[in-house]
Amino acid sequence: MKIFCIGRNYADHAKEMNSEVPSSPMFFMKADTSILRPGMPFFYPGFTKDIHYECELVVKINKVGKNISQKFAHTYYSEIGLGIDFTARDLQKKCKEKGHPWEIAKSFEGSAPLSKDFLPKEELELDKIDFSLKQNGNLVQKGNSKDMIFKIDQLISYLSQFMTLKKGDLIYTGTPAGVGPIAIGDKLEGYIGEVKMFSVNIK
Ligand code: MG
Repeated sequence: MKIFCIGRNYADHAKEMNSEVPSSPMFFMKADTSILRPGMPFFYPGFTKDIHYECELVVKINKVGKNISQKFAHTYYSEIGLGIDFTARDLQKKCKEKGHPWEIAKSFEGSAPLSKDFLPKEELELDKIDFSLKQNGNLVQKGNSKDMIFKIDQLISYLSQFMTLKKGDLIYTGTPAGVGPIAIGDKLEGYIGEVKMFSVNIK
């Protein structure tokens, strides 16, 4: 199973990171061991002191495809979930400065909390899905799929040029503004609309 993560897919997040808005989708990948199983706590690792949450809508691919045209991309997924792209911001900064790959900052164990349930796309208005993240009960991120720079169908078409997509592959579709640090003892709760999708305790 592959995990794709889209970078800078919301203009307000690109701005808060002092990054340019990309002209084509930008992605990186996480290992399958990044998935934090629902209900499991996240253990803060010792190699970083600055992990940030990035709450993101997650698309689950439902069949094999390559070179998928945007027109047919909608037939390659049927469910949307919610996850977090945990990022070791201190390590990422060093990687960026040196032009190194991002894996140590992005693909560490448990760095991809994921909702247990996915919502059928028929139940959602895909171009206006509200989602949000609470940290210890306080709203810290609020996003809407209408603000994605590259929409889901565009992302599927783009990614499938480079790699065959397989059933079960996940696409973390990018985070809106409001990213921030986590600390041991925190509780993170993610929502799509009013539906609670996950809860993660930081230990
Ligand atoms: Mg992200």
